[in-house]
Amino acid sequence: KGIKEENILLGNGSDEVLDLLFRAFCEPKQDNIITLPPTYGMYKVLSGINLVENREVLLTTAFQPNIAEITKAIDEHTKLLFICSPNNPTGNSFSTAIIEELLNCFNGLVVIDEAYIDFSSEESWASKLADYPNLIVTQTLSKAYGMAGIRLGLCLASAEIIAVINKIKPPYNVNQLTQDKAIERVSDQKAVQTEVASILEEREKVLETLKTISFVSTIYPTDANFILAKVDDATLRYTQLLEKGIVVRNRTTQPLCENTLRFTVGTSEENNIVITALRALSN
Ligand SMILES: *Cc1c(COP(=O)(O)O)cnc(C)c1O
Repeated sequence: KGIKEENILLGNGSDEVLDLLFRAFCEPKQDNIITLPPTYGMYKVLSGINLVENREVLLTTAFQPNIAEITKAIDEHTKLLFICSPNNPTGNSFSTAIIEELLNCFNGLVVIDEAYIDFSSEESWASKLADYPNLIVTQTLSKAYGMAGIRLGLCLASAEIIAVINKIKPPYNVNQLTQDKAIERVSDQKAVQTEVASILEEREKVLETLKTISFVSTIYPTDANFILAKVDDATLRYTQLLEKGIVVRNRTTQPLCENTLRFTVGTSEENNIVITALRALSN
């Protein structure tokens, strides 16, 4: 990644890294964090576990951070701002100018969760660590590297931040079997690149199909390995697909995501099954 060892910390999945950030930088019952729904659910779960107030500031209807509202929500006890880009479940990356402004105007730590960065056309924020001392980037082997089961996540930040987290992390959080598998996998970048390229190609195929389905009204731009789409009745379509043995994510209860389904791009064979099922339900 072209990043110095002193700027890297490994965790038991990036979820552990996120939890360590709460424990290192937030005082329970006193501090608060800001999250930007609709987004990854774990930030809220971890704020609950760590007894740290979660201030939710909705994305705009274009699924971008709302700078004015975020600024209003910040006070002297706001320690962390969680930015998920590409965002789960919307799929889009956030505007570089907006993220830059947040890094400049917020006095706390800005955590950019890049779980889906390997599918994105955008550059990682990790290359900007030297410019922003309050920047923390998290990445994972769970998505593009296809190794969710081994539990390995990365935290990329200033040497000062990494040193603090290193003081509180469990000493043996990344076990030997995980290390062996991870080294084997990252040593073959060509294999990873080939798989990512094939997922991106397949994503186009699924996108093109979704455009032809009668009950799909909006397909949102995506930089990830999934596609968010608005349908006529998300719960009905979710159930119909389930009956055909296909599980998608029904995101209808998430703010700004009424009647949306999130389709993860699978293998070519899996996607063909989904395409056939969608066509059978379309009229
Ligand atoms: C999957 C995911 C994670 C967690 O990944 P692990 O490394 O498996 O803990 C973090 N953030 C987002 C946005 C995710 O989708």
